Amino acid sequence: MRVVGNVHSMGLGGFTGQPVEIQGNIGQGLPKFTVSGSVDASLREAKDRVRAAIVNSGFKFPELAVTVALAPAQLRKEGSGFDLGMALSLLIAGGQAATERLRGTVFLGELALDGRVRAVRGVLPLLLAARDHGFVRAVVPVANLREAALVDELEVGGAQSLSQVVAWLAGDGALDSVSDDPVPPAPSVPDMADVVGQSAARQALEVAAAGGHHVLMVGPPGIGKTMLAARLPGILPELDPAESLQVTAIHSVAGTLPDTHPLITVPPFVAPHHSVSAAALLGGGTGMARPGAVSRAHRGVLFLDECAEMGAKVLDGLRQPLEEGEIRLSRRDGDTKYPARFLLLLAANPCPCAPAHDIDCVCSSVVRRRYLGKLSGPLLDRVDIRVQMEPPGPTMLLTGQGEPSAAIAARVATARAQARERWREQGWTTNAEVPGNALRQDFPLSRAALAPIERYLRDGRITARGADRALRLAWTLNDLRGGTSPELDDVAQALMYRDRNF
Ligand SMILES: [Zn+2]
Repeated sequence: MRVVGNVHSMGLGGFTGQPVEIQGNIGQGLPKFTVSGSVDASLREAKDRVRAAIVNSGFKFPELAVTVALAPAQLRKEGSGFDLGMALSLLIAGGQAATERLRGTVFLGELALDGRVRAVRGVLPLLLAARDHGFVRAVVPVANLREAALVDELEVGGAQSLSQVVAWLAGDGALDSVSDDPVPPAPSVPDMADVVGQSAARQALEVAAAGGHHVLMVGPPGIGKTMLAARLPGILPELDPAESLQVTAIHSVAGTLPDTHPLITVPPFVAPHHSVSAAALLGGGTGMARPGAVSRAHRGVLFLDECAEMGAKVLDGLRQPLEEGEIRLSRRDGDTKYPARFLLLLAANPCPCAPAHDIDCVCSSVVRRRYLGKLSGPLLDRVDIRVQMEPPGPTMLLTGQGEPSAAIAARVATARAQARERWREQGWTTNAEVPGNALRQDFPLSRAALAPIERYLRDGRITARGADRALRLAWTLNDLRGGTSPELDDVAQALMYRDRNF
């Protein structure tokens, strides 16, 4: 009887996959099942699943001292993805499974009590890392097969049950392969053509998309802020292959990947409720730190509706990801980092009573000021565009359709290409990323164009940082009209986007 069985699996250390060696051991002694090797409480439940799955698949669970050790010890192991590997390691140790196909193969999967193999989170980043560590094959839950197949140069097989995997190891049975059925078309992003009127807000979103600027929309409820917001991804450029894979990997770890369309190619739209907790917005929670809304919105749009209702502490948590493009989460065993570079779209009612028509507002002027005042300071400092939305007039409602997203997206793409070309040497991709001193020193504007900014500064109507933001916006307006350098009109319009006191 073989007493030791070694099986390869993969575990997540934050956002990066790492090889995990699972060693099943059957020794002399009283029947006892121990799992060791820096395992989380969640993994202790794995014992019940592994034992039941082995027995219910028609194999024998050894009535001896059974140990499963997971290495390396410094990696904290969590979740249910090691179940399959643990069960196999014991079957191999007990001589109930063959070993020839173990070499170069990683195994992922949760076991149901009846031996079925269930989907797990994080398959994409785990397998990308497995390939980079030299593994050539992966056995994954059949439900994760499409996602697993996104990894180039890795052979993947889908497992429905523990007994299917054991049969495959013995060479008398196949694993499931990725179906050749064409992937159904991805659900389409809603179109800007559905939005009637709201030309100022539509234009603001076009500018935001072109330059990567954050936006605040203020207006009464029911005016279409949410409708517009949901259409912003449709005018942003599609993700390039590398971004696509990264965004998909984040959603894989978050457990929010649609199983019919594993590869995310459209910028994600994430809209948490204003009562969202800091952990849900930023990421974290007990055990494995899950990516929060800021990371799920990576390379897409984070829409915070009724943001004035959000807790100050929660809003404050956005500062670090806005500055660094990633979020750092503290954990017991060190920090985890997730990417978090998103376009922030804030929306707010003008006041707490939020009537449909401003004239019906019952709030005092102090209350009104305080309401949006909560947003001021460091957070709003990063919001280049502020737009006031008014109810559309009666004629607006009759004018039918708005311009379709495809037409706007084409202008956005052209403007982005122009900006990228200009900042190519410095490596910035959008105007919003360009630091103020670079704007002022390396790409100076004509005196005539700068005149309104200088006047605003002199009058104390904007701060120096506000002036930089207006400059960035002016460049985007310039790119949208295909100019070579911002002119007076671009600067004046940029100042209008900045110069709003709500
Ligand atoms: Zn009011």
